[in-house]
Amino acid sequence: MKLVMLGAPGAGKGTQAKMIADTYGIPHISTGDIFRANIKEGTELGTKVKTYMDQGLLVPDELVVDLVVDRVQKDDCKNGYVLDGFPRTIPQAESLDAALAKAGDKIDFAINVDVPDENIVERMSGRRACVSCGATYHIVSIPPKQEGICDRCGAKLILRDDDKPETVKKRLDVYHAQTQPLIDYYEKCGALKNVDGTVDMMQVFAQIQDILK
Ligand code: ADP
Ligand code: ADP
Ligand code: ZN
Repeated sequence: MKLVMLGAPGAGKGTQAKMIADTYGIPHISTGDIFRANIKEGTELGTKVKTYMDQGLLVPDELVVDLVVDRVQKDDCKNGYVLDGFPRTIPQAESLDAALAKAGDKIDFAINVDVPDENIVERMSGRRACVSCGATYHIVSIPPKQEGICDRCGAKLILRDDDKPETVKKRLDVYHAQTQPLIDYYEKCGALKNVDGTVDMMQVFAQIQDILK
């Protein structure tokens, strides 16, 4: 089962991708998480991507495509995977499809988590991310058991720099200009599935399970 999550920043892609990965036993591959880990470790890739991320801009395609194409060829991806945050541009989607096609493969479903812009700023300003394991919470709708502490690993929770309202507006513009066209792209190849992302996270997940069963 090879899945792609689509949706605006803050729509709940990561939250759903983690539930899918846990339920179906496939890896959750988040390019944002990979980049943040590289920044934290001070790698060369991390240095390159940081300036783009801080401004709410997309990282250039050439810094992300090979990374994902290599990742999905690893052994743990044999039974499938859920891609979260990739592809984000038409050229990224085309490169992924071309790499998969070489092995006679394709993306089974592109799940579009639909949330209107009005709800996004609220979601992002309330998002808290674990500095250690990448788990995400929301101060109102999905709070951790203990304020500021990750339920899963006990590390500290922070507001991501790029989740501040000024950067969120920029990221939404970038989403509409560069990522939203992927909805048409996956519609045309018959893989697109829309889910209503405005409801409670378990209700969003129920819609996804209906698609995957
Ligand atoms: P969100 O959770 O809001 O969807 P991500 O964690 O997926 O955000 O991504 C954070 C940032 O990392 C993006 O704003 C962008 O700068 C960069 N990024 C992540 N994935 C990609 C990608 N596939 N192409 C280009 N840039 C990316
Ligand atoms: P994305 O990966 O698309 O950027 P996240 O999964 O990180 O989005 O979710 C963004 C924020 O919204 C987080 O704070 C998350 O806890 C919260 N959230 C996710 N799904 C829902 C939902 N169905 N209802 C309310 N808040 C949600
Ligand atoms: Zn954690």
